[in-house]
Amino acid sequence: MKQQQVQDWTCEDSAELYGIRNWGAGYFDLNDTGEITVRVENSAGESHSVSLMDIARGATERGLGLPLLLRIENLLDAQIARINQSFARAIEDCGYGNVFRGVFPIKVNQQCQVIEEIASAGRRFNHGLEAGSKAELIAALSVLDNTESLIVCNGYKDEEFINLGLQAQRLGMQIFFVVETPSEVETIIRCAEREQVRPNIGARVKLASKVGGYWNATSGDRSIFGLGSNDLIAMVDQLRHHDMLDCLKLLHYHLGSQVPNIRDIRTGVLEACRYYADLVEEGAAMGYLDLGGGLAVDYDGSKTNYTHSKNYSLDEYCVDVVEAIMGTLDSEGVAHPVIITESGRATVAYSSVLLFDILDTTRFEPVELEHTKIAEGDHQMLLNLQDAVNSISAKNLQESYNDALYYRDEVRSLYLHGQVSLRERANAENLFLQGAQQIRKLLDEAEEVPVDLQALPEVLSDIYYANMSVFQSLPDIWAIDQVFPLAPIHRLDEAPTRSAIIADITCDCDGKIDRFIGRQEEQKTLLLHDLKDEEDYILGTFLVGAYQETLGDLHNLFGDTNVVSVRIHDDGSFDYSREIHGDSISDVLSYVEYRPQELFERFRKLAERAVKEGRITAQQRKQILHTYTASMSGYTYFEK
Ligand SMILES: *Cc1c(COP(=O)(O)O)cnc(C)c1O
Repeated sequence: MKQQQVQDWTCEDSAELYGIRNWGAGYFDLNDTGEITVRVENSAGESHSVSLMDIARGATERGLGLPLLLRIENLLDAQIARINQSFARAIEDCGYGNVFRGVFPIKVNQQCQVIEEIASAGRRFNHGLEAGSKAELIAALSVLDNTESLIVCNGYKDEEFINLGLQAQRLGMQIFFVVETPSEVETIIRCAEREQVRPNIGARVKLASKVGGYWNATSGDRSIFGLGSNDLIAMVDQLRHHDMLDCLKLLHYHLGSQVPNIRDIRTGVLEACRYYADLVEEGAAMGYLDLGGGLAVDYDGSKTNYTHSKNYSLDEYCVDVVEAIMGTLDSEGVAHPVIITESGRATVAYSSVLLFDILDTTRFEPVELEHTKIAEGDHQMLLNLQDAVNSISAKNLQESYNDALYYRDEVRSLYLHGQVSLRERANAENLFLQGAQQIRKLLDEAEEVPVDLQALPEVLSDIYYANMSVFQSLPDIWAIDQVFPLAPIHRLDEAPTRSAIIADITCDCDGKIDRFIGRQEEQKTLLLHDLKDEEDYILGTFLVGAYQETLGDLHNLFGDTNVVSVRIHDDGSFDYSREIHGDSISDVLSYVEYRPQELFERFRKLAERAVKEGRITAQQRKQILHTYTASMSGYTYFEK
């Protein structure tokens, strides 16, 4: 970056660099002091902004230090409202003859406080839940008490699952069993006859439509779930045979998550409506059309049909769905069904932010050494390397880089053969880095960058060590190359001058972040600020509310992070509405079957033996055991 740019840097430059307003969806912005803020609207329509630094500082003072997962309850409420209101508007504007009933798929974030908040914020919209397992059904039944909300049961269902649902139906809950495989129909019929309850049955169909995006294997002929048209007709005949066609009420499909292209959404609805109309024709009761999930989140803010983005707004999604249903069903004279969607990602992604601090950095620059002078008597290869570095100019970047690389590698191989000393090799590495950095600087001004040197800025970028585990907190970065928005949450009024990638504190080379949102295209490095001695440098990873928490694992025994839920009030003040301390070391050890009490006992014996053998005093034993116990109950992450 040019000196001029560094001096004139403003918050606006940071907003643009990190794309905050592009992916922030109106929820995230930054203030004049260079801190990222969360913005919420109160019931009177006024908006308030709260600095994430203020939230983080307050939490740390209360003993909930970094890494810290922030859940901003207002954003969860706001997204549920946006989805419901947007469908309500589309229904009204298009003159659609029925209502929208959303359900939140519990698998996307099963955490109790999230599900409770969804149930509470969703009550006024009759927003329900989707359960994909017995455990999720039990969770759903514990938070929903509204008989207008729906509970949609997907996934493989055994008798116990179905019986539980049927009993809940007796209590007035609206339970739908979605048949995923042909064999399930029989189980449902058998349980329903035994319990004497008329079940609400849905059919999940495999659509032929293929979608773009990462999850395109969820759709199409080879999709794991759902019934083909032959299975569907067999099911209809079976239900008719048992005089239960009036129980077949719902048609479901799920194209896959994060569908970036609106055209695919539309194609899916059109195909599903054909099935829907024909099931009505066959004599099924119907009344509900469930489009599954797929509503995407614009993680990179590009508004394109790229994997981590979407080329449509929520309003467009709703209007397209409503119009597509009307367009197909009206011509067949079929009544408009209740529209159900199972949007998970779009509902919860915004509400969570992972905050973490940077512990240290590595730079690929010469290290200060005593005796760095390369002199007459040094090995010829070192002298050659020095010449190559001294002759670097804008005109010979490629050539001098090749030379420097060649002589450095020669020195490395001489070292292997014992022909240069460790100190000489260190001098050579330093010289090479000095030359490479010089070349990188000159590249900034070069009109054309030679192909072989295009990767140089990445190769020389810093490594910033982050106090967190990608595997625990951001598993999709590791598993599916997800790109999340990432930015410092403060110092945004200063120019970031270091180009870096991020490594976590697991000792795994996959525990890193090296793909970032860029102004135009994805970047392999991110511009960050220099660390200051007496100040934490805090970064936020945004839009992490969907899928990350339960998919995370205990790699290297880094456990759950601290979590605080924040509620911002109508006057702009905020509360820490819920706090959960992250796993202690004793917690994570118990997860892998150690018994902390037993471990302590063994360590105590070790210490006692040391006292006996005169290695330590009894007082020292006390101190040592104290350290051990404190460690055991402490946080699994780096503590300052
Ligand atoms: C995972 C899943 C969803 C959620 O999808 P999102 O894209 O997160 O909205 C909905 N329905 C079913 C059946 C699913 O498997």
